Amino acid sequence: MKLRIVYDNEAKGGLESDWGFSCLIEAGNRKLLFDTGASGAILSRNMQRLGIKKDELEIIVLSHEHWDHIGGLDAVLHQKVAVYIPNSFTIETKKKIKEQAAEVFEVSGPADIIPGVHTTGELGSGAKEQSLVLDTTEGVVVLTGCAHPGLDAILEAAKQFGDVYGVIGGFHGFDKLELLEGVEKLIPCHCTVHKTEIMDMYPEKAVWCGAGEVFEFY
Ligand SMILES: [Zn+2]
Ligand SMILES: [Zn+2]
Repeated sequence: MKLRIVYDNEAKGGLESDWGFSCLIEAGNRKLLFDTGASGAILSRNMQRLGIKKDELEIIVLSHEHWDHIGGLDAVLHQKVAVYIPNSFTIETKKKIKEQAAEVFEVSGPADIIPGVHTTGELGSGAKEQSLVLDTTEGVVVLTGCAHPGLDAILEAAKQFGDVYGVIGGFHGFDKLELLEGVEKLIPCHCTVHKTEIMDMYPEKAVWCGAGEVFEFY
């Protein structure tokens, strides 16, 4: 399972940084895009730089309906792609996606997307959000958008799929950092408010995140 950060508040290797998040998941020869950043133009340029073509995307998963996660969607939708969205998305957004995709799956509870890739289902109140849970030999790796439902609630939901080995994505304002003690790999990205504190508290297992970074799990 290979994760490539395509869009983030930070970037390296000639990629553009911008407020938002998008991550490519390569599971065997299958490619899934998790979130689409804020701008289709930036997303397209970063994808081009990384050699990712939108036609290769089999599945797009949207964590939640905030502009910095769905703003780039138009740039990656195509007639053969399946899109997984929280059931709570507005009717207008659902309609727009249905017009430009092969299939749209409205997610409520936990579910399998492809073998080894699960969704927590939509969690939280207010802006409901789904996170992905990826199987690895070390345990599961949790991939979050903004973690609005609270990273602790997301990690709790992820446990139904296995012991949590790693967490990557936006942690938002999560500050119960002692709860991350048992997690082996911490990759705080995007909107993580306490990124520096996490890096300082867990220097041996926290890793810098930015567009252009690649993380491989076995
Ligand atoms: Zn958000
Ligand atoms: Zn966000």
